[in-house]
Amino acid sequence: MSSIRLSAAELGAALAKGEITSVELTNQHFDRIAEVDTSVHAFLHLDKEGALAQANSVDAKRAAGEKLGPIAGVPLALKDVLTQKGIPTTCGSKMLEGWRPPYDSGVVTKLKDAGVVILGKTNMDEFAMGSSTENSAYGPTHNPWDLTRIPGGSGGGSSASLAAFEAPLAIGTDTGGSIRQPAAVTGTVGVKPTYGGVSRYGLVAFSSSLDQAGPCARTVLDTALLHEAIAGHDPRDSTSINSPVPQVVAAAKRLDVKGMKIGVVKEISGEGFQAGVRTRFEESLQLLVEAGAEIVEVSCPNFDYALAAYYLIAPSEASSNLARFDSMRYGIRVGDDGNRGAEEVMNLTRQVGFGREVKRRIILGTYALSSGYYDAYYGSAQKVRTLIKRDFEAAFTKADVLVSPTAPTTAFKIGEKSDDPLAMYLNDIATIPVNMAGIGGMSLPCGLAPEDGLPVGFQIMSPVMQDDLMYRVGGTLEAALNSKWGHTLISQIPDLQVR
Ligand code: GLN
Repeated sequence: MSSIRLSAAELGAALAKGEITSVELTNQHFDRIAEVDTSVHAFLHLDKEGALAQANSVDAKRAAGEKLGPIAGVPLALKDVLTQKGIPTTCGSKMLEGWRPPYDSGVVTKLKDAGVVILGKTNMDEFAMGSSTENSAYGPTHNPWDLTRIPGGSGGGSSASLAAFEAPLAIGTDTGGSIRQPAAVTGTVGVKPTYGGVSRYGLVAFSSSLDQAGPCARTVLDTALLHEAIAGHDPRDSTSINSPVPQVVAAAKRLDVKGMKIGVVKEISGEGFQAGVRTRFEESLQLLVEAGAEIVEVSCPNFDYALAAYYLIAPSEASSNLARFDSMRYGIRVGDDGNRGAEEVMNLTRQVGFGREVKRRIILGTYALSSGYYDAYYGSAQKVRTLIKRDFEAAFTKADVLVSPTAPTTAFKIGEKSDDPLAMYLNDIATIPVNMAGIGGMSLPCGLAPEDGLPVGFQIMSPVMQDDLMYRVGGTLEAALNSKWGHTLISQIPDLQVR
């Protein structure tokens, strides 16, 4: 019998009891990928050989009686923005076609140590810039709930692989919402840990002060298990926090919010949100009240400027980070025929290698940083960032965690917003403040919108290095929703119409 619909926690238990081997489990997932990925297109690269070698080694260790972690032998899908030694890493860009990194990222090192089986690399918006995965140079990923719709972005490949049962675990990265928004629109769970909680070593940089890798799965407990496997100090990342990892697994299992104060952020939970998104959000608040929490309203007035400030800070950092793609060190080189100078080759390579959205960001960022405009744009944006942090600090004196819907709408149609960058940017209106302040954020599914039958995400935000609080609330809400419905949300996904 196939085990692809089980959670990572269940799979870990079945492996520990010897009911299945990691090799069997890995093969079942590759079979599923072969069956559906021509329709979903979650993966850019599969590493069957490496995955089966890891599965074999975990099985051998288990047979020898070695004590293994809770997700040893469980398969995972890795966003193509993290390096894995010898495995193609494209960041969804033509620029890095053919590049095989010579080292493992901090996250991959931890995954390997935990015995996790990496199936392959998942599709994404080019260099993580986007909210729909349509900006990938390798074609879009399709949402398993409805193949004509987007799976969110930039980590749409990771979220789609979970919803399509191609992997029980996935890694995403979140600069402005790229873990949480894809989770919201695919009915899965995604967590952006506190900035500095998970190593950025080997995470190809988009906006270094905002980027953070994190766990994605189909249940809150599974994200917690993966969170503990990848978190912790890494001296190779200068922004990595050197303090104990929050106990998120215990928090996810606690299923109790009695006496907790939950703050609804006024600025990101009302106006401009789809009616069905608000309905499901409000029903979830009611369930939290029934579970013993107190709901309070909080106001964070500077969130109104978060999107504008983000679109100065992120492109500024990107314009600097992406200068390293100069045709000399990584990836492709165009026009080097012996007659052209280095600068011309560099220009040609960047013209061909980067897509439209990446070029737009580089131009925006270069402008915002140029002398004469620096103070007016980049400088002001940094001040807004400080005000957003202060808003959070004030709000956290009134509530233990803050909540909002994750995204303003359910999954939209592929192509619907691709010619309108501003409409696309507005997807992240509720997720961006979290990155600006460096705090933790989670999205979990809270139902299907009545008007279109598509998943809605519920966002929980917790203070710096108190990630356990959002897991505690998320675990409790998930259990309350499941018992209200009598099933999990993901079990309601229609069968994939495979092409
Ligand atoms: N959608 C946002 C952007 O395009 C966030 C992306 C991300 O978190 N990587 O920048």
